Amino acid sequence: MNFLSALLMTLSLAFCAVPARAAFLNGQNYVSLANWAGANGLKTFWLQRGDEVAVTNRATRLIFTVNSHDAEINGVHVGLSFPVANDHGNVLIAQFDLDNAVRPLLYPARYIEPKRITTICLDPGHGGKDTGKQVGGFFWHNEKTYTLLLALELREQLRRAGFNVILTRTKDAYVDLPERPALANKFGADLFVSLHFNATQTGKNEVSGPQTYCITPVGASSTDAQGEGADHSATTANRVEKKSLLFAYQIQKALVQNLGVNDRSVRRARFAVLCDAQMPAILIEGGYMTNPTESKKIYDANYRKQMASAILKGILNYQKLTAPTPSATPPATNHLPVKPPPTASHFESTSVPRTPALHK
Ligand SMILES: [Zn+2]
Repeated sequence: MNFLSALLMTLSLAFCAVPARAAFLNGQNYVSLANWAGANGLKTFWLQRGDEVAVTNRATRLIFTVNSHDAEINGVHVGLSFPVANDHGNVLIAQFDLDNAVRPLLYPARYIEPKRITTICLDPGHGGKDTGKQVGGFFWHNEKTYTLLLALELREQLRRAGFNVILTRTKDAYVDLPERPALANKFGADLFVSLHFNATQTGKNEVSGPQTYCITPVGASSTDAQGEGADHSATTANRVEKKSLLFAYQIQKALVQNLGVNDRSVRRARFAVLCDAQMPAILIEGGYMTNPTESKKIYDANYRKQMASAILKGILNYQKLTAPTPSATPPATNHLPVKPPPTASHFESTSVPRTPALHK
């Protein structure tokens, strides 16, 4: 072997030993997690070598699992659109997920235009001929019953906190899916919250805990993509998708922290009730009616009160992160009178007669 070929071999071995700093996987640009972390003042280390990696500083703790969509962002599970990869010990993450999940949650002020929250639309899932999930035994429990009871409880708590509340139904009535976000749009609601409870197929009764959904980013598959097809194009909801993600995150965090329940993660879906919403919109699956312990709680008014209180806390935390700063608000004297939203006879609009105390 002459000197040149020896040199080439040495160089190529050295090159092979250096892990890729970027790659093209799953149709996406992937970047080195450690490089991204370093550039943002975060340290990266293995929690379980080759499997689980942490990215931390004094204020932040992110945990990623190799070959998994699951990320833990400051204690709350968030589903990524693409799995994290391991290239010879160098963990790679899709740039798409840094842009659409990680960074908007870590640095919301950079991504989110402030807006005050006055009116909240609550959407009790199902109703009338649409029972939702049914769980039987001595007595059949219908999901539609408990979504309405939770919505009525949450309405009371939100009103007491100074918000205007609209409900898509106030009784056991059928409401078409497109009508639900349409109502929120019509009344200019600032937030849309669809309430549901979950069930699994037989034999998986141990599954428990809430999950909170928001719209899937354009170009990605949903967390539960069955039946979605290949249409990954933009919906109305994608215009405020980063706000919806932050909203879903704050609600999931509040549910998990205040109820001591299993964290089933922030997830993405192009649900019909989410796609057409013009405001930050989420769908909460509040727990499993098929889990013997959790179902007893869902059927209990005191527990639903706690759940409503947790959702309220999540809304208040989201409000804190997205409220306009006082200096950014023009003086009230410059405001022209604002026309009140229209009232609809078949839906209930609950205007609070006093000035909301929380929006000073
Ligand atoms: Zn449902």
